[in-house]
Amino acid sequence: MSLADHIAARIRTEGPLSLADYMADALLHPTFGYYTTRDPLGAAGDFTTAPEISQMFGELLGLCLAQCWMDQGSPAPFTLAELGPGRGTLMADVLRATSAVPGFVQAARITLVEASPTLRDAQAERLQGHDVHWLDHVGALPEAPLFLLANEFFDALPIRQFQRDGAGWREYRVGLDGDQLAMGLGPVGPQPALAHRLEDTSDGDIVELCPALPAIAHEIGQRIETHGGAALIVDYGDWRSLGDTLQALRGHAPVDPLDAPGTADLTAHVDFEALARATPSAVTAMTPQGVFLERLGITGRAQALARGLTGDTLDQHVSAHRRLTHPQEMGNLFKVLGFHPARANSPAGLDP
Ligand code: SAH
Repeated sequence: MSLADHIAARIRTEGPLSLADYMADALLHPTFGYYTTRDPLGAAGDFTTAPEISQMFGELLGLCLAQCWMDQGSPAPFTLAELGPGRGTLMADVLRATSAVPGFVQAARITLVEASPTLRDAQAERLQGHDVHWLDHVGALPEAPLFLLANEFFDALPIRQFQRDGAGWREYRVGLDGDQLAMGLGPVGPQPALAHRLEDTSDGDIVELCPALPAIAHEIGQRIETHGGAALIVDYGDWRSLGDTLQALRGHAPVDPLDAPGTADLTAHVDFEALARATPSAVTAMTPQGVFLERLGITGRAQALARGLTGDTLDQHVSAHRRLTHPQEMGNLFKVLGFHPARANSPAGLDP
């Protein structure tokens, strides 16, 4: 039995599924889910992420968090958390760079929120020698100062899609056309969570909603506001999403999101306004990744690392710097949003 058969059987008994239910099965089904069954990252996988492109990404984010920690009086102990840590590369780079900050690593309780058993194994291996704790969800984070990173985590959360119809909305649903999975539209109805989108949309426009996002942003922001801390959230997306941003990638190439579920990565752009609306903490201005990394000094760091390199390794290093920062590469598509307590300064590199 494949995941497509399982989903088809589900539709025959339950009726058409919301896109979010479909995505949840495709990504995290315990037996067939995309993340549950594989390591999707890197050249041999389906996609590559900033920490896999260059160590500079994790070094700068780590030092930015450590600066926030010092600015807030170096609370100890504190939770050093990452959401969806992939192969553990970002956290490994953070720990290496911040080992130069007196007391930081010693006070950090390293906590990874990860749903995939396969990737938990990869993280354990990458972070050998560190005392690492895993959690299933952010609700289990301790009530303590929280310094948190999330890179390409929120884009992996299931979304619902709606098409505007008058003052109401029709939801895109996954149903069956014969034996094949097929996308269709449900009946028109009101959608209270989209009330604010009646201002900036017209008939036929598509908007997306990530049902899990507000509760996650709230859990993080509540701990930061109450106990101190900061969060750096990096992802592709924008302030309010408009249009269909659902994307399926297999072997670094786009494919139909309904084709062979469980074998392609499914993501959608992140609505940064939804993150900012949901957190009880203060938020920074949303800032393009390229601008943020330049402000943190990536060019100086790139030059320092380049000194020891020649030939292909030097070329790769130069192109990694470009990929992370250039507006036509990841520099503009990816955005950064910071959470911080209202009583503390915003993280370095991000405007209040
Ligand atoms: N941050 C990493 C990996 C990004 S891929 C990097 O930048 O390289 C998305 C990550 O989120 C994977 O580790 C995946 O297993 C995890 N993930 C996806 N959905 C999740 C969920 N609902 N809860 C916890 N982790 C999740």
